[in-house]
Amino acid sequence: MNKTPQKPKWMEETKGRIDALQKEHFFDNWSKQKHGKITFYVYPTLNVPGGWFEQRAYIYRINAEKLGVKAPEVAFFAYPSIEVGREIGITPSITFVKERVIHGHIKQSPGHELTHVLLGELNSTDNLPANGLWSEGICVYLDGTETDRKKHALSLNLKKEVLRTPWLEWRKNMPANLYPLAGSIVQYCEQQFGWNKVIEYLREVRKSGANDAEFSMRIFGFPYFELQKKWLGWLEKEAGSGITQPAS
Ligand SMILES: [Zn+2]
Repeated sequence: MNKTPQKPKWMEETKGRIDALQKEHFFDNWSKQKHGKITFYVYPTLNVPGGWFEQRAYIYRINAEKLGVKAPEVAFFAYPSIEVGREIGITPSITFVKERVIHGHIKQSPGHELTHVLLGELNSTDNLPANGLWSEGICVYLDGTETDRKKHALSLNLKKEVLRTPWLEWRKNMPANLYPLAGSIVQYCEQQFGWNKVIEYLREVRKSGANDAEFSMRIFGFPYFELQKKWLGWLEKEAGSGITQPAS
């Protein structure tokens, strides 16, 4: 039972590629600067917009407070775009939580990848794996763009069958189009039960959420499928009204 769950293949490949590039001194001429707990390594010739570093250092600090963890030092490699990364065999929107290393690109939201690192302080990635419902939900919700996740989720006009896909099937590996939905689930849970309950849930969940049904009952007071129904009702209730109100 001590076996570490395998990382997705693309993640392993990216890690291997980064290690190889490091040996070739690929990153040696990237400029380095420190803002708060983040050490940025900047792709040569990349022009970073004003405030870009500061915004990330800020959101990292704020989100650490929100999650109730001490923000660890993190290394952040900044690429000009996804495409530039792909040319060298890297998809630069990846966080190695245990190593506290991010390879990100300039146009990403300020908080998403950094929040993955913070979540790692709250609970192990074995319990909150990347691509899972709760880890991505939190990272989307706290990405620093202040997007209303409910409105965003509704704007996608996803089919009912997609919304009704049992959460148990999302928990380990979630398609990218479900990320905004996961964000709206976190938004719903905060509004309905309060942020402390959400934190408690994140702390307690084990084995990629294998016990999330039990915890749903204990912490939120509803069976997991019931929670999904309630979220769906909340999502649909105010659809089109354009106004988000806390659920009563
Ligand atoms: Zn993510």
